[in-house]
Amino acid sequence: MARKIKNQEKRWNSPHYFRSSRNGIDGDMMKISKTLYDQMINHGLQELPYEACGLLAGAEQGHIRSVWPLKNEWKSSTRFYVSKKVVEETLEQIGLKGQKVLAVYHSHPATAPYPSYTDLKNHTEYGVKMVIVSYKTSYPHTKCFSISEKSYDEHPFLIDFS
Ligand SMILES: [Zn+2]
Repeated sequence: MARKIKNQEKRWNSPHYFRSSRNGIDGDMMKISKTLYDQMINHGLQELPYEACGLLAGAEQGHIRSVWPLKNEWKSSTRFYVSKKVVEETLEQIGLKGQKVLAVYHSHPATAPYPSYTDLKNHTEYGVKMVIVSYKTSYPHTKCFSISEKSYDEHPFLIDFS
């Protein structure tokens, strides 16, 4: 046990580790206002026991400015589907606001907030992040990921209370 703690200290004190960690946080974090966050959380609640899905958009990378709830046309508790037509119409609306899609969000009604095999397979826009809200516990739990070639990296998802 003592050895384990010692190793961890070494890791944190290493200048290289600190630098790469800092770059990751500065470059890839996502920030959302409390109001928009609540909008996404409430959408997921309304759709229970089915999965909810939607888009998070903004004008600059990492700053979410709008939430676009979409209808899960499959009404499934483990998968979501939105027709191409609806997606295209929503993308047009987002474009009219001078924004672009920063992330696709969906809910996990009964499982932890980590991408499933199906999630990884279906997420092909690697420049767009994946946000998952889990309702497994009584308090919703949100995580944000970047996806590439069937693997994922977690990124900080900050809720701005100001
Ligand atoms: Zn999922």
